[in-house]
Amino acid sequence: MDKLEERTLVILKPHTLTRGLVGEVIHRLENVGLKLVGIKMIKVSKELADKHYPLSRQEFIEGMGKKTLENYAQLGVDPVKELKTADAYEIGKLVRQWLVKMITAGPVIAMVWQGPSAIEVVRKIVGHTLPSKAAPGTIRGDFSYDSSYLANKGKRAIKNLIHASGNLDEANYEVSLWFKDNELYQYSRDMETNSISRLFGKNGKD
Ligand code: GDP
Ligand code: MG
Repeated sequence: MDKLEERTLVILKPHTLTRGLVGEVIHRLENVGLKLVGIKMIKVSKELADKHYPLSRQEFIEGMGKKTLENYAQLGVDPVKELKTADAYEIGKLVRQWLVKMITAGPVIAMVWQGPSAIEVVRKIVGHTLPSKAAPGTIRGDFSYDSSYLANKGKRAIKNLIHASGNLDEANYEVSLWFKDNELYQYSRDMETNSISRLFGKNGKD
């Protein structure tokens, strides 16, 4: 793999399969030139889900709680009344339970996508965590509507179709958690090989 290339984990959550959006998501990631280097369909075990959403990652747990608190503040909803706490970490732990339940509820498609700045590029295509904030043109913006408030009311994780690694550390951890080395493949996409020589012959003349 080139030094500038990255690998990132993408998981199509169970509702992406039930909604028939698998092809649409893959199409969008392929379209920008990212390379699919690993793919499998699995029913996630509780053990894998626990490792994927580790309780030890305080920042991540707290981050989910903060999203709830921001959403509630916007809507003028009192978190203590709704969830009996206004502590971001405690709310995050609650959300994490719903997330584990969601990701283990049905089969998922797990994929590894590779390319320059693949982590950031995939996040851009996927869009904001909260579908109500995800821009049109992003997968979440085009195909989902949900909010922390609605999801928390239903005691479930926000339905935003996709998981995508958020940064390099997360990507490295998640790719090796979900895929063995021999499940990842190397090949070149046509656009990576010299397009001049493809169009005009080896000497670039005809
Ligand atoms: P992501 O990286 O954009 O997926 O967002 P996070 O890593 O912060 O959160 C992981 C997942 O938890 C999200 O994709 C949502 O499905 C869910 N989630 C995040 N924040 C909330 C929230 O405030 N309430 C609920 N119910 N679910 C949330
Ligand atoms: Mg995340």
